[in-house]
Amino acid sequence: MDVFNELKNDFPRIEKDIPLKNYSTFRIGGLAKYFLRTSDKKELKKIIERVNKENIPFLVIGGGSNILFSDNGFDGLVVAYRAENLLKENFNIEKKENGNSMIVKVDTSIPLSFLISEMKNLSGLEWGAGIPGTLGGAINGNAGAFNESISNSIESVDVLDISSNNVLEKKMKNKECLFGYRTSIFKNDNNLLIVSAELNLIKDNEDEIKKRISDNLNKRIVKQPKGFSAGSIFKNYQGKLEENIIENYPQLKSFNEKGIIPAGLLIELCGLKGKKIGDAKISDEHANFIINLKNATSDDVINLINLIKKSVKEKFLIDLSEEIKIF
Ligand SMILES: Cc1cc2nc3c(=O)[nH]c(=O)nc-3n(C[C@H](O)[C@H](O)[C@H](O)COP(=O)(O)OP(=O)(O)OC[C@H]3O[C@@H](n4cnc5c(N)ncnc54)[C@H](O)[C@@H]3O)c2cc1C
Repeated sequence: MDVFNELKNDFPRIEKDIPLKNYSTFRIGGLAKYFLRTSDKKELKKIIERVNKENIPFLVIGGGSNILFSDNGFDGLVVAYRAENLLKENFNIEKKENGNSMIVKVDTSIPLSFLISEMKNLSGLEWGAGIPGTLGGAINGNAGAFNESISNSIESVDVLDISSNNVLEKKMKNKECLFGYRTSIFKNDNNLLIVSAELNLIKDNEDEIKKRISDNLNKRIVKQPKGFSAGSIFKNYQGKLEENIIENYPQLKSFNEKGIIPAGLLIELCGLKGKKIGDAKISDEHANFIINLKNATSDDVINLINLIKKSVKEKFLIDLSEEIKIF
């Protein structure tokens, strides 16, 4: 029996040769040799144990909203750990009183936006309204907006540690997750799979929470480019530019004082807004977004990324680093 049929015996919902573009908000990507979509953490553990033992390469994704897949696809198993059916009763959301706050335990296959809509009178995640993807993906990249991020609400994260042959279940406290700006221990260690998390959310007035969510969504609608993308391609630059650069570009002065320089502004100042390679285009609305106009290839996007890095390096003497993951 071939590998696929053997896997199919134990995991009947596994599929073969699935276009990854269908699982990426960029709508780019070749075929996954094997593919499983699940929100069942026991099934996730079982299949990872199996492929780990058999040395089949694997990748766990959430909503695919911060990823660029290669047109060559993935020669192994891709598991999309994301909820299939957005009905409240399909989610195990456990709440535990904790003084003025509530500890909420939830599987990380839940879409972040769905989780936010279910929290009603619990505050802490309003910044995330409108951000696509799962809670797992958000924890991996420490997603954030409006000067807040998911790490502020994380009490602990339950992971599968696959660094040895046996898959171990571990609980990691917030500090152990090494959260930083758009980063975490998980972003740099593919051996740690995030299966559930405990969030610490503050009890608050439901109408006020709703208002903050709606304000944030409105800001997003105005600022966020439309079209197929993976959100911001680069992290904002954390650091200072040389003084003579600031003299030439006074619009960077206030950002330089804070030590956080928006990548989009640097790209714009390189004159790259609207630049196209193939069917990939640097957004006219927000230069840190690359849009797949229709049939962009992964190479089109990578060529634009390289052009941006080279131009920013030449003009501003700094290296931008990617926020998205490229597989
Ligand atoms: C229009 C648009 C707007 C966006 N705006 C924002 C924004 O304001 N702020 C922001 O921070 N981001 C933003 N993003 C990026 C993206 O939505 C977030 O980073 C999101 O949290 C990623 O979640 P995901 O489930 O889609 O992760 P994926 O893209 O599926 O995965 C991202 C990384 O996490 C890993 N991963 C996913 N799930 C797990 C898991 N369970 N265990 C271990 N690793 C895992 C993947 O392997 C991959 O390396 C935006 C994206 C788009 C398309």
